[in-house]
Amino acid sequence: MRPSFHPKLINGPFEDPCLFVPFLFQRRALLFDLGDIQALSARDVLKISHVFITHTHMDHFIGFDTLLRIFLGREKTLHLFGPHDFLNHLQGKLSAYSWDLVGNYPNRFDITATEVRSNSFVTRKYQCQNGFLPGRIKTEPFGDIIYREPGFTVEIAILDHSIACLGFSITERFHVNILKDALFSMGLQIGPWLKEFKDALFREDDPSKSFEVPMGKTKQVYILGELADRIARITPGQKITYISDISYHQANRAKVLKLAKHSDQLFIEGPFLESHKDIARKKHHLTAGQAGKIAAEAGVKQFSIFHFSPRYMGMAHLLQKEAADAYESAV
Ligand SMILES: [Zn+2]
Ligand SMILES: [Zn+2]
Repeated sequence: MRPSFHPKLINGPFEDPCLFVPFLFQRRALLFDLGDIQALSARDVLKISHVFITHTHMDHFIGFDTLLRIFLGREKTLHLFGPHDFLNHLQGKLSAYSWDLVGNYPNRFDITATEVRSNSFVTRKYQCQNGFLPGRIKTEPFGDIIYREPGFTVEIAILDHSIACLGFSITERFHVNILKDALFSMGLQIGPWLKEFKDALFREDDPSKSFEVPMGKTKQVYILGELADRIARITPGQKITYISDISYHQANRAKVLKLAKHSDQLFIEGPFLESHKDIARKKHHLTAGQAGKIAAEAGVKQFSIFHFSPRYMGMAHLLQKEAADAYESAV
């Protein structure tokens, strides 16, 4: 099976946290945390549709300016999600620049931002053409799911890092494997129509309805259910969890275990060694050993640690080993 999501930490473990999650067969990606994103090409940055930010400590939000600069003047909408007080921090960034010339831009670039509060989601729109003045407030009741599309959901947990910090899981509803040999033997090509095809399956469209596939300059019409039988196999969906900057205590542990349960991949911070766990506690971070233990207890298939303290420069292998040992001894 070729997974739908291809998550990649874009920086080294001593650099800013930032998980880039491009989608298979689509010019689209999600981003978890917004540290320094200079390692991404402008082409990759422009694939980003939704950014999920754990908290606004500088190393998790400094990439916003780079992102904004690349999107400015494009016909795009960018969706941002962040924790308590996120809208104030975002407005602070947006109000740092003069926007007197943006009224002349032919394209409309908008930001839609959602702040997660303990009992609500608060969303505001910021339009480039009016200098990013905050738009009307829309409030919805809090829920575990912060974002939903036919094919996947993004779930959250509000965690504690002395300030509120969000944990995120992206879960595919089910996975549609495209059988390329079957597809090619029918004379079909890979293209954007595959997203339409998958979305029709995720929406549970009537299988007897017709579905058009482009063939060069013409179109071929199939019955959706018959096409699915020939070119698709359905398997369980993929789940990826991203956790950064949390204190190690019972309430956080319980929330992370619930959120990360049975993930295919868990990306979790592991900044300190167990021998420095007092420092980790004071700074409201995990140790690598605690990260490995959480990964084992959540029953994840694979996990990666990142966000290493600079004090271990040249000793990353010690953190990796401590996390791996803790995982092995807890499974
Ligand atoms: Zn932090
Ligand atoms: Zn951090």
